[in-house]
Amino acid sequence: MINRAIEKLADDVRASYGQTVAPVNLDVIAEAESISLVPIEKCEGFHGRIEFLREAASFVIYYPDPNFAPSRQRIRFSIAHELGHYFIEPHRELLVAGKSHDSTPGFICDNALEVEADEFAAALLIPASHIEQRLRRRSFMTLGEILKMADDWQSSARSAAIRYVRYTGEACAMVVSKQGKLTRYIPSDEADGLGYRFTGIKMVPEGSAAHRLNNDSSKKGVEESHSATKRWFPYLRDEHDLHEESFRLGGSGYVLTLLSISHDEDE
Ligand SMILES: [Zn+2]
Repeated sequence: MINRAIEKLADDVRASYGQTVAPVNLDVIAEAESISLVPIEKCEGFHGRIEFLREAASFVIYYPDPNFAPSRQRIRFSIAHELGHYFIEPHRELLVAGKSHDSTPGFICDNALEVEADEFAAALLIPASHIEQRLRRRSFMTLGEILKMADDWQSSARSAAIRYVRYTGEACAMVVSKQGKLTRYIPSDEADGLGYRFTGIKMVPEGSAAHRLNNDSSKKGVEESHSATKRWFPYLRDEHDLHEESFRLGGSGYVLTLLSISHDEDE
């Protein structure tokens, strides 16, 4: 489901600082708000942190130093996430009240504040209007096109996939897995409405594109597989064609998968 309040907030922030073309310049936004951006040379699992400095009455965002971090797009997502904690009013109130904040990796945490900050980050980095415009021309996107969109807007691949799944009218879903284990499943509204709200499985299925990527680290590009819904939704009775596209996210063992379900009435 689309969080309209957060979409509007992100739109307002971009508009206020003249960030209307790709990629969104986060430095401009931070500087205009007098937020210091400070790179940190560490450390396993560190994604970012925002703090309110009481004496200076100003905010600082710590982010992973690009020389020690896996990807620039991932860092941008982390900074945008921390900006979410700044721009979303209740989050900022917590910070000003002295609750500093370590962020867990984007989209794999379930804490409500983290999810909101992730939604804000995704909405800030890839404007809703851009996706709506693309989907007006053609209602679906391939994983390759989603990765290209992530590239154009210098946002993370998984946030671009989530943006697509939120906005498309197609029956599809995004799956993130790590070493074969499902860590995130997000169906589109259409897929949700058709009954694909959960997969019912914990591991990526044998023979799936994600499974092949997980077992063969020499595969670098988008891996595809054509199968049926039974593979990913073994407990659902209806059987429909399903197309899988999977892509490895850096070297961390994460795989991003897009499931597209053929669900035409006249099938
Ligand atoms: Zn956070």
